[in-house]
Amino acid sequence: MAELTFFTGPMNCGKSTLALQVDHTEASAGRSGRLFTCLDRSGGASITSRVGLSSPATDVDPDFDFWAWAQAEYRLGHALDYVICDEVQFYTRPHIDQLARIVDDLGIDVYCFGITTDFRSELFPPVARLIELCDRMETLPIRPRCWCGAWGTKNARVKDGIMVTEGAQVEVGDTESGGVGVHYEVVCRRHHRLRLPSTRAGAAHEVPLPFDDPSPA
Ligand SMILES: [Zn+2]
Repeated sequence: MAELTFFTGPMNCGKSTLALQVDHTEASAGRSGRLFTCLDRSGGASITSRVGLSSPATDVDPDFDFWAWAQAEYRLGHALDYVICDEVQFYTRPHIDQLARIVDDLGIDVYCFGITTDFRSELFPPVARLIELCDRMETLPIRPRCWCGAWGTKNARVKDGIMVTEGAQVEVGDTESGGVGVHYEVVCRRHHRLRLPSTRAGAAHEVPLPFDDPSPA
């Protein structure tokens, strides 16, 4: 039975690496697949991982229709056993419905990879749809850490060194820490709440602990 599977985890936990490994493993079994991505870190039509692997992929734009595409492939007699979709948080909700349909009606396995929440810790709409529809959701075992050493679970958007919590849901930025422009980093829930990314780690001692309040009511 074909399945719609969602592999998730914070940034830098190896999702794109796993996407390429799944493709390799499936292809080794003689199965035919196609790779898709959206706004990949390379800026081109490929899935690239931080450990140095990459494979060509089709870039998904909002008008792309997975159902129409899969039907056309089917009619042309092209073998299609599985589809790999990386950076699925940048797809649209209709894309997710189309992917579920190619699983159910055409028997194609769909493996999706992406982060669940944006820089405000709110679900991306296509990911909410994927959680609603998927057969199986897997969290990757590799966990990045916040600069403080705690497990990093939240994505912080840092603009010119300052963490921001307002703005467009999608804004492309670097994932390497830097002083100028937009970058993203994984922080723990506490430092996300306090808006203290690594660029402001030195300010952490200025935050009073709840039992240090000098003027209790
Ligand atoms: Zn932290």
